[in-house]
Amino acid sequence: MNIKFFLSESESKKSKIGEQEKALSDIIDSYAKKIGFSTEYIEDIVVTDEEHYNQALETYTKANNAPAKGIAEFARTCFHEPEKNVFRSSIVFRTELVESVLAIGKKKSEDLSVDEMSFKYLVYHELGHCLDNKNRKNLACKESEQINKFNINELFEHYSELLLSELAASFFSARAMSPELYQQNMLSVVNGIAGRFKKLDKIKEDYTDKPAHLFKMAMASSSAFWVILVHYSNLIGSRLNNEELSGIQLEVWPEASKISHSLILEFEKMVCLLWNKYPDWQTEDYNFLVNIWKFLGMENGYKFVQNPEGDGVYW
Ligand SMILES: [Zn+2]
Repeated sequence: MNIKFFLSESESKKSKIGEQEKALSDIIDSYAKKIGFSTEYIEDIVVTDEEHYNQALETYTKANNAPAKGIAEFARTCFHEPEKNVFRSSIVFRTELVESVLAIGKKKSEDLSVDEMSFKYLVYHELGHCLDNKNRKNLACKESEQINKFNINELFEHYSELLLSELAASFFSARAMSPELYQQNMLSVVNGIAGRFKKLDKIKEDYTDKPAHLFKMAMASSSAFWVILVHYSNLIGSRLNNEELSGIQLEVWPEASKISHSLILEFEKMVCLLWNKYPDWQTEDYNFLVNIWKFLGMENGYKFVQNPEGDGVYW
């Protein structure tokens, strides 16, 4: 594991991160050990300021010709080309996150504020992605920017991989998720869904029968229901591996119909069964995702259909 810095000169002078390379390396090492992971499966830990963030990401996604898998606001886990069948990952961290985690240092979990806990959790979560990358050796994940045609199968491939990798990363990092942080995350998921539906209503309002608008409508509506399932897979992954969380009721958004509610519970049930087969997941094992996604869309006013001439959405 190498630690690399993408910092402007003035930033590196100002920042003490460079001097704390050893402390960072020790923290990563100790967190990794706690989740049963070894840093020998990490290629690079990259610390970048805002200015170099995109450059760092590009270096780690394009150079290795492998897509990024775990995405968080402050960090992103990228996959390396397999060499000798060993799958290594790299993590790109923002300086703010690293500074916060270094400041936490050896404080006990019970003494951390929810914000501090969330910084610590993010590091665990990205390590969870690295562990999952190593376990599943799965490179098949298309970046959503590469999708330029509305194709239900392609969207399924993209979002199911995202969902499975979030499920696994959340499972492996669950020990660093406190009940307070979990409640806070669940609240932001539930509120985020309401916001997402509002945005969708706006796109619907602005719709004209131009082909570009139809594509936008199809992508926005289909993604909305996938993203809901990805968020719930994060919540479920944490619950599956942390007893303190499993007792907290899984909430749905306030406007959810009875059917939407039962679809989320059904999703949880199926995801738990799926977890039992980890890491040997075959497409047949998670094909149910596409049905739950379709029903969730239908229940909320969008019907997605597959056609040989091109897939479509009705609303
Ligand atoms: Zn993630």
